[in-house]
Amino acid sequence: MVAFEKLIAKEAKMSLKNKVALVTGSTSGIGLGIAEKLAESGFHIMIHGFANEDAISKLKTEMASKYGVKVGFNSSNLIEVAQIYKLVDHCQSELGSLDVLVNNAGMQFTSPLEEFPNEKWDDIIALNLSAAFHATKAVIPQMKKAGWGRIVNIASTHGLVASVHKAAYVAAKHGLIGLTKVTALELAESGITCNAVCPGWVRTPLVEKQIADLASNNNLTLGAATISLLEAKQPTKRFTEVSHLGDLVSFLVTDAASNMTGAELKMDGAWTAQ
Ligand code: NAD
Repeated sequence: MVAFEKLIAKEAKMSLKNKVALVTGSTSGIGLGIAEKLAESGFHIMIHGFANEDAISKLKTEMASKYGVKVGFNSSNLIEVAQIYKLVDHCQSELGSLDVLVNNAGMQFTSPLEEFPNEKWDDIIALNLSAAFHATKAVIPQMKKAGWGRIVNIASTHGLVASVHKAAYVAAKHGLIGLTKVTALELAESGITCNAVCPGWVRTPLVEKQIADLASNNNLTLGAATISLLEAKQPTKRFTEVSHLGDLVSFLVTDAASNMTGAELKMDGAWTAQ
């Protein structure tokens, strides 16, 4: 790296100093990958999600010592609206700010439409869509006051195209992309950006369950079910890595991405190019 580039990288890191990121659903999978990369960039991190106490305590200690940042933890159930506002308050009071919000927590349930359980529909819309609305609403005042903020919504290829048996998930993710655009428009002159990230298949617990279901429904080994899952949708035939999604979000928080807002950014191995 030449000296000038080194200086820019140093300045970018400096300007992020003491900023705070809340990544919902960061005890696992994609959220954890994003939290790691933001910590590496120098953000103090509020980890959020479900996990056992030992695992959380180990994660907090490791992340704090590896990256020299403060790390908090909150386990609010985001299906309950009041808990979302408490999570935002907790982040601001414990870490002193909330500059980057990554709305990532999500769940999946598959079923034909006419048998889709009503309570699963309600839960998926609440977690995958409404939680992002409430968290965004709650963080805007502080971001406006600071004149700077980054909101990243983890949508999906299923925010752009549909698949069978995923009515609630597809509806929620399409809605999340709509919310991203409205947020970007309303905040266009405020120094706050809002973008949606659309991953294809990523090998996380959410997808492991779908691979296991595919294997048992079709009498396949897990290996054969994995190949079949990828071949059906993702032309590169490989999973998107959580660390690569973390790198993408880390780019979105830099000054280089300051005029990038209202975008749907795909990392889907050409799934939606078909
Ligand atoms: P994951 O199951 O590994 O992680 C989900 C996270 O959400 C966990 O931290 C969990 O504790 C948290 N969570 C679950 N229910 C919650 C609730 N009620 N309240 C609060 N937190 C809750 O899943 P993942 O694959 O990492 O998915 C993360 C996001 O990425 C989701 O929004 C998902 O829709 C999206 N996504 C995943 C894939 C994929 O292939 N894995 C592809 C596209 C988009």
